[in-house]
Amino acid sequence: MKRYSAFAIAREAFRQHSGWARAWASPEPRNHYDIVIVGAGGHGLATAYYLGKRFGLTNIAVIEKGWLGGGNTGRNTTIIRSNYLQDPSAALYEKSRALYETLSQDLNYNIMFSPRGVMMLAQTEAEKRGYLRTERANALQGVDTRFIQPSEVQRLVPIINIHGPRYPVLGALWQERAGTARHDAVAWGLARACSAMGMHVIEQCAVTGVESANGAVSAVNTTRGRITCGKLGIVVAGHSGALADMAGFRLPIESVALQALVSEPIKPCMDVVVMANTVHGYLSQSDKGEMVIGGGADGFNNYTQRGSWHHVEETVRALVETFPMLSRLKMLRQWGGIVDMTGDRSPILSKTPLENCFINCGWGTGGFKATPGSGWAMAELMAKGHSPLTDAFSLNRFREGRFIDESVAAGVAH
Ligand SMILES: Cc1cc2nc3c(=O)[nH]c(=O)nc-3n(C[C@H](O)[C@H](O)[C@H](O)COP(=O)(O)OP(=O)(O)OC[C@H]3O[C@@H](n4cnc5c(N)ncnc54)[C@H](O)[C@@H]3O)c2cc1C
Repeated sequence: MKRYSAFAIAREAFRQHSGWARAWASPEPRNHYDIVIVGAGGHGLATAYYLGKRFGLTNIAVIEKGWLGGGNTGRNTTIIRSNYLQDPSAALYEKSRALYETLSQDLNYNIMFSPRGVMMLAQTEAEKRGYLRTERANALQGVDTRFIQPSEVQRLVPIINIHGPRYPVLGALWQERAGTARHDAVAWGLARACSAMGMHVIEQCAVTGVESANGAVSAVNTTRGRITCGKLGIVVAGHSGALADMAGFRLPIESVALQALVSEPIKPCMDVVVMANTVHGYLSQSDKGEMVIGGGADGFNNYTQRGSWHHVEETVRALVETFPMLSRLKMLRQWGGIVDMTGDRSPILSKTPLENCFINCGWGTGGFKATPGSGWAMAELMAKGHSPLTDAFSLNRFREGRFIDESVAAGVAH
């Protein structure tokens, strides 16, 4: 596969861009792979990428029922940060944030990582106390965050109204090297790198069954035929319950739609990401100028990948006191994705009751930020049988009562 470079762009400019090859191959499935990963979202692709890059394992198929990145990966609001409360979370999310810093260079694909800074507003005394606690926990964990005063919030975000009256801004938890990245470029770049290593990324191929022999996984049935495999990775976010059912075990997961919307494009007015968790809303401005807006998850379990009017109204209404300018914007489009929520709002990266079958799920409303770190850790778990980054996130924690409570850091926002 040819490398992208400034020289290649110049060369193609002189020949009407006729020399660009497909970014990744579209192979027919083989009968057998050493490893099958179900789900070509960011996490599935990152798992395959690091299995190849770190462990030299390349006889791998990543199987996707729709189009690559068409699940939550291509539907999220792209916030990347690592200021979680608990030690295992901070380690995993900070690893991921650090990998994002150089992911474009690693993949030779511009994922448009923009470390523009993310702030989480404190709009009640309780929230302020919570963030001060997180600030101190992050200092011990080596995660660079700090609590900033309302005047600094106002300086960083001139369009904000910090005076309330219902929810005045009392400060914010600020992570300067947090930010955003282009979500589908992350999936495309990873798919291209996997394809370049000889792996098969197979789209339009749904897994419909999992076969086992002597307690270990042996094959998957798909809409394009039966495929035998030595190891299986299930990385399907909102459909994790369905895949686990096929593999014969149950998960402590609920699937819920999470929605987002964008406004019409406007001139640049905000160059950081702001999350207002008390009122359930957050926003950033895209490179095209749209205000990218998200809110809370639907209040009932469902598998519908769509947006709804009441949610648009609810989210914008919540934000308008703090961002009065929103009341004058037209909203352009809305959508939804199916997120996989655990009770403690932390992910599951784990072996399963079926031998050689591994699961990566439970990222809920906030897994985009974890994409490279999750892939890094999951690859280690699948290749070596354990990883220091995944140990605390095993399925056993629900049986043993070792919850990793991130409801403050992840219960609402991203
Ligand atoms: C509206 C919204 C906003 C969000 N905002 C943020 C944010 O700002 N920051 C953040 O960090 N996170 C955010 N998230 C969460 C984030 O998008 C997800 O946690 C993350 O993208 C999950 O990635 P994934 O690869 O695990 O899942 P997905 O990208 O959903 O990939 C799973 C894939 O599995 C495939 N699949 C399912 N069943 C089968 C089957 N039977 N056979 C084959 N393939 C199958 C699906 O088609 C899908 O492509 C948001 C999510 C939504 C919906």
